Amino acid sequence: MKVYYDKDANLGALREKRIAIIGYGSQGFAQANNLRDSGCQVTVGLRHDSASRVKAEQAGLATLPVAQAAAEADVVMMLVPDEVAADVYAKDVAESMLPGKYLGFSHGFSIHFGFIKPPPEVSVFMVAPKGPGHLVRHEYTRGAGVPCLLAVHQDPNGDAKQTGLAYASAIGGGRAGVIETSFREETETDLFGEQAVLCGGLTALIKAGFETLVEAGYAPEMAYFECLHEMKLIVDLLYEGGISEMRYSISNTAQYGDMTRGPVVINDETKQRMKGLLAEIQSGAFANEWMKENRNGKQRFRQLEAETRDHRIEKVGAGLRAMMPWLAANKLVDKATN
Ligand code: NAD
Ligand code: MG
Repeated sequence: MKVYYDKDANLGALREKRIAIIGYGSQGFAQANNLRDSGCQVTVGLRHDSASRVKAEQAGLATLPVAQAAAEADVVMMLVPDEVAADVYAKDVAESMLPGKYLGFSHGFSIHFGFIKPPPEVSVFMVAPKGPGHLVRHEYTRGAGVPCLLAVHQDPNGDAKQTGLAYASAIGGGRAGVIETSFREETETDLFGEQAVLCGGLTALIKAGFETLVEAGYAPEMAYFECLHEMKLIVDLLYEGGISEMRYSISNTAQYGDMTRGPVVINDETKQRMKGLLAEIQSGAFANEWMKENRNGKQRFRQLEAETRDHRIEKVGAGLRAMMPWLAANKLVDKATN
């Protein structure tokens, strides 16, 4: 595995290029501000009715309609949601994809599954920060950075990797490490991680644990603390030092329960189902299902979202968090500015 740092990047060449950041959401906000603070020429491309225009302009960034920002730029970075990227590209970006330009992504979804097919005369790269935009901005402003993945899909210009590396460095990734990968590897591992472990697996695990305690007659507040609140303490230990170091920190009783009971909950059968999820990702079945869900107005998406919003763990949690105001101090997300 190849890892690059700031010393390997040529920021000078990137500073001469005009960069259009399409979309000012989680990643657009972070990347546009970090690039600007690294001395790059940035314009944010937004929809006519964009609610983000005020936020971008208040941050001192130039804004233009998407088509115009893309037309004037050498590097067009697509930071709109993956499910709308193909439409935005077809409507406002495709026409300005002239020879010599660069098209960038922070996730390989649209390119790897073929929803966007850029012309062969355009270099296509990916710089994918391994963290949400708010962390990308927060780390940058404190002089650090979030590690990034770097990949090249096609490169008629001959310097897509250098351009991507400089881009990664300009958003702070070079301070932490820029790891070389491929569009396929990034896309498939990213989807798998968020489905099986990080988001899907985790929230299902938390809810099942909470329900088990509550159905057995324990106080929902206790169940919330045990199954959700304390998750952070354990994850922080895992993040710092891996599994063995986390086990060093917990009690021997907790460690014995961990080692003997964990595999009862997550077992070979679970792993077989994980392999099933991976196969659906690799075949493109998941990607097609998700695009279809969007074409159909996201009905199921909204229904599932509402089911969790109305779940007892969310109601109990809101009440408990209100009693712990320090949890909200220093929040990374401030919806008024980012
Ligand atoms: P987001 O949902 O936070 O924001 C997208 C922004 O796009 C919106 O705020 C809006 O400004 C704009 N937008 C939405 N619909 C649009 C349309 N039809 N036309 C024009 N603009 C529109 O998205 P995000 O989470 O920043 O994701 C952007 C990309 O970054 C995706 O490819 C995603 O996979 C990738 N990524 C995200 C994260 C993350 O943690 N959020 C991490 C790594 C990579
Ligand atoms: Mg991810």
